[in-house]
Amino acid sequence: KMFNELQDLKGNIRVFCRIRPFLPGQKEKRSTIDYIGENGELVVANPAKPGKEGHRLFKFNKVFAPTATQVEVFSDVQPLIRSVLDGYNVCIFAYGQTGSGKTYTMSGPNGAAKENWGVNYRALNDLFEISRSRRSSITYEIGVQMVEIYNEQVRDLLSSDGSQKKLGILSNFQPNGLAVPDATMRSVESTSDVIELIDMGLRNRVVGATALNERSSRSHSIVTIHVRGRDLKAGAALHGNLHLVDLAGSERVDRSEVTGDRLKEAQHINKSLSALGDVIYALAQKTSHVPYRNSKLTQVLQSSLGGQAKTLMFVQLNPDASSYSESLSTLKFAERAS
Ligand code: ADP
Ligand code: MG
Repeated sequence: KMFNELQDLKGNIRVFCRIRPFLPGQKEKRSTIDYIGENGELVVANPAKPGKEGHRLFKFNKVFAPTATQVEVFSDVQPLIRSVLDGYNVCIFAYGQTGSGKTYTMSGPNGAAKENWGVNYRALNDLFEISRSRRSSITYEIGVQMVEIYNEQVRDLLSSDGSQKKLGILSNFQPNGLAVPDATMRSVESTSDVIELIDMGLRNRVVGATALNERSSRSHSIVTIHVRGRDLKAGAALHGNLHLVDLAGSERVDRSEVTGDRLKEAQHINKSLSALGDVIYALAQKTSHVPYRNSKLTQVLQSSLGGQAKTLMFVQLNPDASSYSESLSTLKFAERAS
């Protein structure tokens, strides 16, 4: 019931918060998480202000505790994935500071075994399974694109020569989600095709990063899944697309400490994350003007933000007390969206 109410009030935006566990090597384990409720409540405690004054309550559609498994998380994502096969456009993205678990949620740990797969592999696996089960009445074709946005430039991650061509974005709204028509589109028929492709995309990302270590935390990666279905009896066609986005780290960089390229990167990240926040805020408020055009990120994602599209934001938190101020700024970003 709450779900429907939220949908009526806010459109199709839902926000899940996920708290990652402390890592095995981590020595001091002081958490800022004071309380996790069954109905999406989260209380964070300011380590500098002991007692109730330092407590702050946030509300989400759902909060996943550090013990939540990839399977548990995906079971709440699955309905959205399935709606893509019915012709809906869906966007799922992970927001948070570097090290908060964005990549873990979206892809899983590096080279993950099946049980640790993140949302992207599970989503595709699910799409294949359902499309197979409907094969007698509907045929589906599934295509995948993968791009990176770095310093407001869109680059192809699936070109066969790994060239990372710079790509243009169509300026008009593309309901079919083909906002970056020149990004290599690979058709996929099985989960192993997908694993191969995404791994290739991730490798291309690393190759481009020779001069800049840890590029992945400073660029947005977007996997776009295009689904085209054809009803064999009625002959009707439908099209849905799914954007799976691992955003750049949201941490604020200290302007007094960085210069040159690093400062430019930080400014681009800042600009695109605020543009995303502004779009989600406008959608949540149901204002008539939605400012999609303020960043490449929101232009690429436009077909799956707003209108009939369904959007899910994962708000990722590092529970460590030393991350308190970043966590608070992440939570404020999310609060504005919901
Ligand atoms: P980000 O992409 O936000 O920078 P990562 O996904 O790389 O963060 O996570 C940082 C570290 O924490 C990685 O070693 C990752 O494997 C681990 N981690 C993140 N979330 C979880 C989780 N839910 N369970 C176990 N380990 C996790
Ligand atoms: Mg990451």
